[in-house]
Amino acid sequence: MSSTNQTWDAIIVGGGTCGLTAATFAARRGAKVLVLEAADELGGTLLVGHGQVSAAGTKLQAQKGIHDTPEMHWEEVLRISKGTVDHDLARMAVFNAAATFDWLVDHGYDVLPFCPVASYYHEPYRAPRYYWGKDWGRSIAKVLVAEVDKEQAAGRIAVKTSMPVTGLLQQPDGAVTGVTAGTDRRFVGKSVLLSAGGYAGSPDMFREVTGIPLFAKMAYRHNVGVGYRLGVAAGGYLRGREKYLCNFGFILESDAFPSPFTGRCNTYPEDRPIAEIYVNSRGQRFIREDEPSVDMREHALMKQPDLRYWIVFDQAMFDQFPPMVVDWTKEQMIAAFANHKMFYRANSVEELAARTGIDAKGLAATISAYNRSQAGGCDVLGRTHMPRPIASAPYYAIRNQGCSVTSTVGLAVDANLRVVRRDGRPIPGLYAAGEILGAGQLQGDSFVGGMMAMPALTFGKLLGERLLAF
Ligand SMILES: Cc1cc2nc3c(=O)[nH]c(=O)nc-3n(C[C@H](O)[C@H](O)[C@H](O)COP(=O)(O)OP(=O)(O)OC[C@H]3O[C@@H](n4cnc5c(N)ncnc54)[C@H](O)[C@@H]3O)c2cc1C
Repeated sequence: MSSTNQTWDAIIVGGGTCGLTAATFAARRGAKVLVLEAADELGGTLLVGHGQVSAAGTKLQAQKGIHDTPEMHWEEVLRISKGTVDHDLARMAVFNAAATFDWLVDHGYDVLPFCPVASYYHEPYRAPRYYWGKDWGRSIAKVLVAEVDKEQAAGRIAVKTSMPVTGLLQQPDGAVTGVTAGTDRRFVGKSVLLSAGGYAGSPDMFREVTGIPLFAKMAYRHNVGVGYRLGVAAGGYLRGREKYLCNFGFILESDAFPSPFTGRCNTYPEDRPIAEIYVNSRGQRFIREDEPSVDMREHALMKQPDLRYWIVFDQAMFDQFPPMVVDWTKEQMIAAFANHKMFYRANSVEELAARTGIDAKGLAATISAYNRSQAGGCDVLGRTHMPRPIASAPYYAIRNQGCSVTSTVGLAVDANLRVVRRDGRPIPGLYAAGEILGAGQLQGDSFVGGMMAMPALTFGKLLGERLLAF
């Protein structure tokens, strides 16, 4: 094992969203910082993710004449999550988000001109406080890497890429005093921050901690839960399994899970009035398809077998209504029905059931019942928009898979982001922030727009500015 005599003030495990921010602010506080990164580049999930962030009371909102406050944002986090967030952590994220956002903008974050907006695919906020850049997450990564580069040039930060952290150095009293990394390196530090992201790059760990398969291959591939294992081995524990929520579905390439993503159907009634019906593998409808709440639709899908449903329609609907897959043309749809595994076309309802694997009796009964409701104008599930019956062959179905591309479960920390034992005692010298805290702490059992990337950045800033002890 090779080591140097140097004692770092802060060792940052993972140079992504949270880690780069923490490193920058700690360096500005005068710390000697070491960033250890498993990948051969910095940026983490921001290199693959949307990087949509939410913040209230920002300078940009003020310039645009938008009245918004952290209190209003906080009330909405509670409303959307139905109070299921960790109140201490989520409040700290919300009340410090504007300062983080303003700092990003002041340092070159290229927010798109139409931002902020109130929503994008998730349950809408009531005020526009949702932002992103022209290169999605990379717009943020560019700012963070540039700031770290400056601190590196000034000799306050050292970065080692392709240097995966493998273990923690711990004293007999439990205090963490450094890490092991790579094949045989040891680094000693006064505080260690676990900011190595989530576990959604590891199908095995995903299933182990949530009990649900990792359906979609979209997470950053280096985020395989190592930080969790280190935190638990040091005495910490995981929480939030019960908060798992799937989104309302992606079209995946295949059943070889985790599968790459093909696209998503436009299931947003405010955006594309819904003509079709949604059925589960029993052929049953499970939600009024024009239900306005994304969160209600997602929670309804959570109760369906394999978190899966098919959007079913007929030729007349296909001809009359806009293409259902977001950003696709009708020609692309036709091609998909000819050669994509998740797109089905059949001359009869029975044949459609056989092709999709949906229960044939259930599907036939559901379509008949829906057609009667449509004719009578009264739907048993309360749907109001029913422009056509499903009655003209050929019949079509598109399979949608509910999934999550982030990590619900997280390492338990206290209000100062110190990793804690089950009895609540912090492990001296060990901190955690970012996705490793689990989506369940910051969003509860809902998807609350921007409440992953923004808290990762904000907690990184707070750790660097004041929480990390050195
Ligand atoms: C496709 C996608 C879209 C998303 N879109 C949004 C969105 O629009 N809004 C939002 O709020 N959230 C979004 N998220 C989630 C959000 O981006 C992440 O939760 C957040 O960026 C995670 O930040 P982090 O610092 O915890 O992890 P990361 O930014 O991933 O950084 C972790 C770093 O640790 C490194 N690492 C891993 N293991 C080790 C190890 N053993 N040693 C050293 N380094 C290690 C990784 O290589 C990585 O660089 C999205 C996620 C995905 C996958």
